[in-house]
Amino acid sequence: MNAGTLLAGSRPLEEPSLPVAKFGHCIEVSGISKIYRAGTRAAVEAVSTVSFSVPHGQFVAILGPSGCGKSTLLMMVGGLEPVSGGSILIDGSPMTGPRTSIGIMFQDPTLLPWKSALDNVLFPIRVLKRRIGTYREAARNLLEQVGLAGFEHKKPHELSGGMRQRVAICRTLVYDPDLLLMDEPFSALDAISRDEMNELLLDLWQQYRKTALFVTHSIREAVLLADRVLVMMKRPAAIVEDLAIPFARPRSMALGESPEFNKICGHLRERIEESHDRPRPARSGSRSRFRSPFPSGCARRSFRTS
Ligand code: ADP
Repeated sequence: MNAGTLLAGSRPLEEPSLPVAKFGHCIEVSGISKIYRAGTRAAVEAVSTVSFSVPHGQFVAILGPSGCGKSTLLMMVGGLEPVSGGSILIDGSPMTGPRTSIGIMFQDPTLLPWKSALDNVLFPIRVLKRRIGTYREAARNLLEQVGLAGFEHKKPHELSGGMRQRVAICRTLVYDPDLLLMDEPFSALDAISRDEMNELLLDLWQQYRKTALFVTHSIREAVLLADRVLVMMKRPAAIVEDLAIPFARPRSMALGESPEFNKICGHLRERIEESHDRPRPARSGSRSRFRSPFPSGCARRSFRTS
C-alpha cells in the first residue's frame, strides 16, 4: 500500500498546534454494510448496517474480537474499501476514495528497510513530490518527541519493534492529517512496549487533539485511550454498545489501577461475552441483578444499528 496515499496532507507539522475549534462531525457513517465477494457462493457479510458519528477532536475506540469486521469498517471509513451499502461523510463530504486529510497506521509499520528512520518519516513527502526541505525539521522534531532523537539515521533493522512503530507514528503525523485511523497498531508488540506506546499516544493526542478511530481487541487499551468505545459483535459486524469513557485528560497509565477503570473494563468484557454467547463464569449475582458500574456522568447509550 502506498504510504503517500495513506498519510498525505497539505501542511507540515512544525510544532504542536493548539486544537482548532471545529464544529460538527468529522465522521458520519450511515447504515453501511460490506459484503465481500457479493453475488458469489463465497459471499461474506463482514459489516451489517452500521451507523455512528464522531465529532471533531474525539478519540473513539472500536472494540471487538478478531474477525468481527473492525478492520473492514476502518478501511471503509478511510476510503480504502468501497461500501456495499450506506454512506460515509468525512467533514461533510461523501467518502469516495483515499484522502489527503486522513492518516492511517497499521499493525505492521511497513517501513522501507533500506531507508533511515528520518527518510521513512519523509517518505510520503517524496511520493507526493513535495519539497523535502520544508518538512525535514518537522520530521526531526517528531522523532525527538517520540524519544528517537539520535536514531534518525538508523535503519529499521537497527530499531526495536516499538521504535519502528514510533517511526510509523511520526510518518503518520508529519503532514498533520485531520483524522487518524489506527488498526491495532500496537498488537504485535510485547506488553511493556505496548504500554509505552499507549503512554506515548496519550501524550501525542493531548498535544494534537486529532479526531481518531482506533481499532483494538484490548479492552484496557480501549478504555485507557478513548473518549468513547464502540463495541462490535461478531460477524456480520454491528455495534452493540456506544459507551462514553468518563475519565478526565490528561491521562496516564496509572488510570488502569483505579476501581472505576476496572469496573468499566469488566462491563465491556461482559458485553463482548454476551454478543458471543460464550459460557459465562459463575458470578455471585444473576445477570438480572447486574448494576451499572458507571459513575454519574458516564453516558451509556444503546447504539443505532440501522
Ligand atoms: P477484524 O478486523 O475484526 O479482525 P476483518 O474486518 O479483518 O475483522 O474481517 C471480518 C471478516 O470479513 C473476516 O472474518 C473475513 O471472513 C472477512 N474478510 C475480510 N477481508 C476479506 C476479503 N478481502 N475477502 C473476503 N472476506 C474478507
